[in-house]
Order: sequence, then structure tokens, then C-alpha cells
Amino acid sequence: PFDVLVVGGGPAGAAAAIYAARKGIRTGVAAERFGGQVLDTMAIENFISVKETEGPKLAAALEQHVREYEVDIMNLQRATALVPAGDDGLVEIKLENGASLKSRSVILSTGARWRQMNVPGEDQYRNKGVAYCPHCDGPLFKGKRVAVIGGGNSGVEAAIDLAGLVTHVTLLEFDDKLRADEVLQKKLRSLGNVTIITSALTQEVLGDGQKVTGLVYQDRVGGDSHRVELEGIFVQIGLLPNTEWLKDTVALSPRGEILIDDRGQTSVPGVFAAGDCTTVPYKQIVIAMGAGSTAALSAFDHLIRTSVP
Ligand code: FAD
Repeated sequence: PFDVLVVGGGPAGAAAAIYAARKGIRTGVAAERFGGQVLDTMAIENFISVKETEGPKLAAALEQHVREYEVDIMNLQRATALVPAGDDGLVEIKLENGASLKSRSVILSTGARWRQMNVPGEDQYRNKGVAYCPHCDGPLFKGKRVAVIGGGNSGVEAAIDLAGLVTHVTLLEFDDKLRADEVLQKKLRSLGNVTIITSALTQEVLGDGQKVTGLVYQDRVGGDSHRVELEGIFVQIGLLPNTEWLKDTVALSPRGEILIDDRGQTSVPGVFAAGDCTTVPYKQIVIAMGAGSTAALSAFDHLIRTSVP
């Protein structure tokens, strides 16, 4: 069995694996797709101490760094169930291929995925004007016009944030009213360069073949379609944690995020979690890496307290 088994190979999982392996304990990583969301990212400008890099480059560097250590990397492996430790003290992770792995401690770092609009043009123009993370990509749209899709807390926060950077923000909400907290709505309405459109169904992302040039939405009351000219679209209709497979064994928040304490401990003994799949506020690469390191140190602490030499 492993001493530490990491499930998920994004920034959180890579950091956890390195921190665990540096303790000289038997470490494994099982990941559906090593690299995680970073593989889908283009420019990264907030990975501190690296002025600018690209997602695939950072993902390759993550893997290279993990491979510097004796870590058993099991890529293209999807976990489907977690069985808490019994008398043998081993947590079991079942894989889609029928195999199962046992470990004295487990770190869950399966990340999250942004809910998509699923409209024509969204895939084609992802990273070419269609964006999901205002903290990451906001500055790329300085002096340009953008839309934010979604009038919940994250959409309204994004619109307020972006309004300070870009020339104009159009906020589109499907419902007939915004769902964000009143204090955020009040702030948003006080801004001079924001237009709020409710009852709006986004229908299409428009582009010139290279980048986004606009979008089309349908007014759900009148029924007619409208066009908005702009350079960027921030989709803020939900971040879905990859935790569906854990819902019967590990305590999750109402949004499906793994509940952790400040050491990364979950509700299951010997099971820790880190990164975008958890309740950690703010989902970012450096934050995921810090959380992965915390979880690994906590797992090590757990091992030295529970092991019989
Ligand atoms: P992830 O990166 O999501 O990794 C999850 C890992 O778990 C993957 O290996 C996945 O394959 C695996 N996995 C999932 N389910 C299972 C399962 N059942 N079994 C086994 N493995 C599983 N952040 C920044 O700081 N700066 C940026 O510029 C930036 N830009 C971004 C741009 C885009 C387009 C996106 C989508 C995100 C961006 N982010 C950025 C956010 C950043 O990528 C995430 O915060 C970070 O990757 C989270 O790391 P993680 O390890 O928690 O999860």
C-alpha cells in the first residue's frame, strides 16, 4: 500500500505529491488527466515569480518536478469510489478500470470545472475572448468591452472587478432579477460603465475566426434577439467541483465542495483534500499549490501519529 495516495494531478495534487515524497514515504498520484485545468489555460501571468507562462508549459513543468522524486504516477486513471479505512487502517480508492489502490492516507485534489453556456462559438473562442476567471484574464481586456454571463454573486463580483479595468461591462442574467447579495447589486448599479440586462438568454458567441467580436442574446420577455459588440465574455454560471464520486462518503458543502479544516482534513480520518475541489475560498494555481502542500504535511503528521513502527 501507499503511505500517501494523491487523487488528482493538477497544481494541488502535484504540490501534495512533492511534499509527501520529500518525506521519504511511499507516494502515488492517480489522475484522470495529469496537469488538470492548467492544460486548458493559455497565458498565466499570476503564478508568482514567473512573469508569464503558458498552461501546457506549466503543466509539463509540474510533471517534470514530480518525476524528480520517487512518485508512482498513474495517469489516465479515474477514481470512482472511496472506501474509508477499516481495521487495517487502509483507505481504498476504486478506479474506473476495475482496479483499486490502498493507502494509509489519501489526498483528494480532483479540482473543478467551469459550467459552460453550451452555445455556438463558446468552444471555438475559448481563450480567444471567452474566459472563465476574472482574476486570471481580467487584465487582458484592459480598455476593451466585455460581458459577464451570470448575475449570481460570482458574476456580479466579476462585473464590479472588471468595471475597474475595462471600458464597459454588460452583465447578462437569465432570470428576471439578479441573484447576488443586495450589497453587491447596489455597488454594481452605482458604476457608470455597467449595463445590466435581465431575462437574457445568451445564444451565440460571435467572432472573426481569430477572436471574439460580440454575442447574441434573446430577450426572454419580448422574444427578439439582440447583438452586443465586445471583445471579451466572462462566463460566471458556476464552478462545479469534481466530487460527484465522493458524495456518499465524504462530507461536502451544498455546492459539492469537500469540507476541510485549515489543515486540509476532511470528515474521513486519514483523508485530506486540497485545491479547487474543496471549500477553500478563491480557486487559483498558487492557492491550490499551497493547499496541496498543507494537505501533504497534514497527511504526514497523521501517519507519524497513527503508525506502529
Ligand atoms: P485541477 O487543475 O482541476 O486538477 C484536478 C485534477 O484531478 C486533474 O488531474 C483531473 O484530471 C483530476 N481528476 C478529476 N476528477 C478525477 C477523478 N475522479 N479521478 C482521478 N482524477 C481526477 N488560475 C490561476 O492562478 N491563474 C490563471 O491564469 C488561471 N487561468 C485559468 C484559465 C482557465 C481557462 C481555467 C479553466 C482555469 C484557470 N485558472 C487559473 C484556475 C486554475 O487552473 C485552478 O485554480 C487550478 O488548476 C486548480 O488546481 P487543482 O489541482 O485544485 O485542480
